[in-house]
Amino acid sequence: MRNPRLQGLQCLRCDTHYPLALANDGCPACRAIGVHVGLRASYLPEGGGPPLQMPYEPGFTLGEGGTPLRDMPALARQFDVAGLALKDESQNPTGSHKDRMTAVGVAQALDFGAHTLVLASSGNAAVSAAYYAWAAGLGCEVATYGGLPAAYARQLDALGARRRVFSDNAGRWAFVHERSQHEGFFALTNYRLPALGSAPLGIEGYKPIALECVADGGVPDHVLVPTARGDLAWGIHAGFRELLAAGRIARLPRLWLVEPFPRLSRVLAGGALDGAYPGHTAQFSTAGATVTYLQWQAATASGGGAVVVGDDEARAARRMLTAAGISAELCAAAGLDALRQLRARNAIGREAKVVLMLTAGAARDPSWPDPA
Ligand SMILES: [Zn+2]
Repeated sequence: MRNPRLQGLQCLRCDTHYPLALANDGCPACRAIGVHVGLRASYLPEGGGPPLQMPYEPGFTLGEGGTPLRDMPALARQFDVAGLALKDESQNPTGSHKDRMTAVGVAQALDFGAHTLVLASSGNAAVSAAYYAWAAGLGCEVATYGGLPAAYARQLDALGARRRVFSDNAGRWAFVHERSQHEGFFALTNYRLPALGSAPLGIEGYKPIALECVADGGVPDHVLVPTARGDLAWGIHAGFRELLAAGRIARLPRLWLVEPFPRLSRVLAGGALDGAYPGHTAQFSTAGATVTYLQWQAATASGGGAVVVGDDEARAARRMLTAAGISAELCAAAGLDALRQLRARNAIGREAKVVLMLTAGAARDPSWPDPA
């Protein structure tokens, strides 16, 4: 059921309040001055309640969350840091962190009487949405690429999800936008260009990652997050920020957003937030040419930043993880090379405790196995 303290939505930048809605069109006040900014959930202040406010309590769940925090002492020694742990999101029901967002998205769809989830994805989010929609008795429409791996296509078909193929993000987002205009269709992922990010209440689903990390390993100093448009990074940051506000932690971890080619890095160096930053990568979960205000905020407000890890470095890092018994999709393995880079320039000190977000396992990765 809907959390009675959930008031509505609020601009990430100017804090203007808006009513709850299925549409995800960002802040009109900011758009009027040429800034494209998403919204976040807004809650009435909580006195002595649960450490994190969630949109739905209890929400719709298929058992996502509560994933293991795997301590990696040998890798920590190798990278010369005090602690390194992997937050193993591959243990979610469909094998990725996306299940956390999908679960809240389904709860919102049911709350608003929507009958169909619609999204743009070529991987983890598509399988997650198809599975949760199937379990909840909702329809699912996925805008995807022509090169969708056969294993994904089979899963989507088996779960009754309808697939539409497009050659680029602009085409996929236009499709999702068009579908979302129809009564009963709920767009889970971004559909605007310049991009805003996924559905605001869905992103709230990532906040418990912060609580789980603190409960299982104490407050990390740094969290490394594979990023495309920053939903996951922002959700984790929002979780830590609520824990800080509630006095449960004393400081915010720095979030480092790991990208396959320079996008956010270029924005942090002065590039336009709504610019196009194309690039090629085998890290399919973090591909794409756009940057969002959401991810810029997660990086800057936490005191972290962006780290670029190319495919060759990511593959080398994946070999190390594989040897340590860890299966990782390529963009998650890239986080280990990001740690190497940050340690080399002392942005991460040797006394630091680090968490790396293991967003999904290698088996879900169309580039696996890596060429020898
Ligand atoms: Zn605004």
